[in-house]
Amino acid sequence: MSAVPSTAHRHDQPANHAAPKARAVELSGWGRHPRSECALLEARGAEDVLGAIAGNQTLIARGNGRSYGDPALNPAGTLSLLKSNRFIDFDPASGMLTCEAGVLLEDVIDTFLPRGWFPPVTPGTKFVTIGGMIASNVHGKNHHLAGSFGNHVESLDLALADGQVMRCSRTENESLFEATCGGMGLTGVILRARFRLMPVETSFIRRETRRLRNLSEAMDAFEAARDWTYSVAWIDCLARGDALGRSLLFLGEHARADELPGPRRLSPLALPKKHSRTVPIDVPGFVQNRWSIGAFNELYYRIAPPGTDVLDYDRFFYPLDGILEWRRLYGRAGLVQYQCVLPLAASRAGLTLLLKRIADAGLGSFLGVLKLFGQQKSGLMSFPMEGYTLALDFPASAKTLALFPVLDAIVADHGGRLYLAKDAATSPAMIERFYPGLAQFRAVRKRVDPAGKFTSLQSRRLGL
Ligand SMILES: Cc1cc2nc3c(=O)[nH]c(=O)nc-3n(C[C@H](O)[C@H](O)[C@H](O)COP(=O)(O)OP(=O)(O)OC[C@H]3O[C@@H](n4cnc5c(N)ncnc54)[C@H](O)[C@@H]3O)c2cc1C
Repeated sequence: MSAVPSTAHRHDQPANHAAPKARAVELSGWGRHPRSECALLEARGAEDVLGAIAGNQTLIARGNGRSYGDPALNPAGTLSLLKSNRFIDFDPASGMLTCEAGVLLEDVIDTFLPRGWFPPVTPGTKFVTIGGMIASNVHGKNHHLAGSFGNHVESLDLALADGQVMRCSRTENESLFEATCGGMGLTGVILRARFRLMPVETSFIRRETRRLRNLSEAMDAFEAARDWTYSVAWIDCLARGDALGRSLLFLGEHARADELPGPRRLSPLALPKKHSRTVPIDVPGFVQNRWSIGAFNELYYRIAPPGTDVLDYDRFFYPLDGILEWRRLYGRAGLVQYQCVLPLAASRAGLTLLLKRIADAGLGSFLGVLKLFGQQKSGLMSFPMEGYTLALDFPASAKTLALFPVLDAIVADHGGRLYLAKDAATSPAMIERFYPGLAQFRAVRKRVDPAGKFTSLQSRRLGL
């Protein structure tokens, strides 16, 4: 790999760059709600990004479209970074990787795991770009120990509205760095980033599964398991009464070579075979109802065996990636995800109320996820805070969209917030309550982008 040019203080001067050609395409986020016809431009490297910035009145960067709602949509100009996907430099002594923003996390893992390196933080899908991970300041199952992805970013190069490129880090252009980690693409276009991978001995995870009969047991188990590197629970959001919040807790550690079963010790860093299946058609909406979901949840809760096993990283971190286009299970209308976090002290009361409202509405989903976050140390608009986060998928229907404001009010009243990377429906008034860093974020944006070039459907809907 070529060395990184010494651009530690590079501030490119605006120049005349040609804008890549746009084509009209219907786009959406992962949830397929909302959809919008957008002028899509593709950038193959920094020159194209600067051309797109110069040639478009408004613009938003787009990674792999794995945010659920509308943050990566701008009808007047959506700039795909997927073809800006080169590795630039890797230091095998420290694990420091520099790459363009459109590199997929999957490619980072496929390239560096066989050499003994793994991402320090990963979301529940590997089909995300590094730029998207920074813009959402994503969290993983190890947030309580490792924080968000932004905590591991050494520096990033950001193309601004006026065509300058600024290197940002915790010591250089700090306020811009803090606004960009979690800033949903609204400060500029991330061109490249430098971040540290972590050393691992094997590509396997030692997992412990625990079955917990209700929310209280689940929370106690999370809090007793803070020393585990990874923890996440699947929660049955349709269970009621004494079983409200019953969960399966999955704990994980990177396995050591001596923990692998015999034959696997011969190639402890091997990548698993890729066997993805796909959902070939949109499943009609009526297939998902209180009874089908309830039956699935009952079965899942009963058959997952408690105990310890060793499995490859793909099955531990990315179970959904094995079923390509699983979103089609929600029919053509799509899905919306509700992900909130509540402060630790208010979590028990707030989660109980949220789960009751959801079970009463009969609107649960197959996949409810509960997780305990640690303290959040980076990003003005970052989602995590110390406490519990709950994430649930719902069919995108009028009934769901009527329930969300009720959930929002519970979250706000308990001092919590909603995750912008999953949002498609909240309101400006709620965002003001959820994000105390909003005023400071707006001030940074005003300074670097006074005319508001970087906007998305989400930023306009929420007045960010
Ligand atoms: C199955 C699934 C599981 C998930 N699990 C988790 C999880 O566990 N934790 C978590 O935190 N998130 C999770 N997510 C959400 C996902 O990690 C984020 O939405 C992430 O931002 C998606 O990356 P992307 O490359 O697809 O970005 P996109 O969805 O394309 O864009 C997301 C945002 O990033 C901005 N952006 C993208 N590239 C750039 C760039 N180069 N410069 C500036 N801004 C940019 C966009 O403008 C947009 O605002 C999950 C999503 C799915 C579908």
